[in-house]
Amino acid sequence: MNNFLKFVHVILLTLRVMGSYGALAAGFFCIVFLQQQLVTPENPWRQSCEQEKQKIPLIIVDAGHGGHDGGAVANGAIEKHLTLEIARKVREELVAAGFRVVMTRDGDVFLPLEERAVLSEKLGAEVFVSVHINTDGSGSEAEGLETYFAGKPSLLAMRKTGRKEGKDSMSEKLASLVQRCACEETQAVNRGTKQRDYVVIEEARCPAVLVECGFLTNAIEARRLREKAHQEKLAAGIASGVKLFLKSKPTPAAVLAEK
Ligand SMILES: [Zn+2]
Repeated sequence: MNNFLKFVHVILLTLRVMGSYGALAAGFFCIVFLQQQLVTPENPWRQSCEQEKQKIPLIIVDAGHGGHDGGAVANGAIEKHLTLEIARKVREELVAAGFRVVMTRDGDVFLPLEERAVLSEKLGAEVFVSVHINTDGSGSEAEGLETYFAGKPSLLAMRKTGRKEGKDSMSEKLASLVQRCACEETQAVNRGTKQRDYVVIEEARCPAVLVECGFLTNAIEARRLREKAHQEKLAAGIASGVKLFLKSKPTPAAVLAEK
C-alpha cells in the first residue's frame, strides 16, 4: 500500500512537472506567433491602425520665405523669422487639437513655391495655410490682417494642374473663417479677404489660404509681431479658423474639430 501511494505520488509529480513545461512551451510559442504577426506588414491589425491614422485630417502649415529668401525687411525685423515662429505656433495649436500637421519648412531653409504647393497632393492634405507678413510700399500707415485665396482656374489650367472646380469656393470659405478668427483673437484691423493667384495657394490641390499677419513696415505692428504673446494669439486665431472650416465638412475631420 505504502509503495502504491509512493507510485501515485511520483506519477502526479511527473504530470505536474510535464504540465508546467507544457504551459511554458505553449506560452513561448504564443509569444513568437504574436510577435511575427505584429511585425508582418500585411498584418490586418497593423493595417487598420495605419488606416485609422490616415483618417485624421492633415494640415500643411507653410512658413513663408526662408534661407536666402528673407522676404520683407523693415523696422529691424526679417519676415522669414517671424513667419517660422508663427507657423510653429499654428502647428502646436493644431496638433494639440488632434490633427496631423506637416510644415513645409521647420528651419531657415529655402524651398521653391511649387515644392511647397505640391506637398498638399503628395501627402493628401485637407487644408493648406501659408503664413506671411505684409509690407506697404507707399508708406508706414497701413495696418491689419488680410487673407488671400486663389481665383477660379481656367479649364486649361485645371487640366494642366489637375485642380478641381470647387476647391476655390472652399478656399474662400476657409479664408473668411481664418480671417475672422485671427482678427477676433488679436483685435487687429480687419482688412478682409482677397482673391489673388499667389503660386503657393493657386497650385495647392486642397483648400488653401495665405494669411498676411500684419505690416512689417508699420513700426507698431512690427513690434507686436515680434512679441511671443501676439504670435500666440495669431496662431490661435488661424488654428480656430481651420478647425471651424474642417468642422463644417461632412468628414471624420468634423468629429475631431468638435473637440
Ligand atoms: Zn511674404
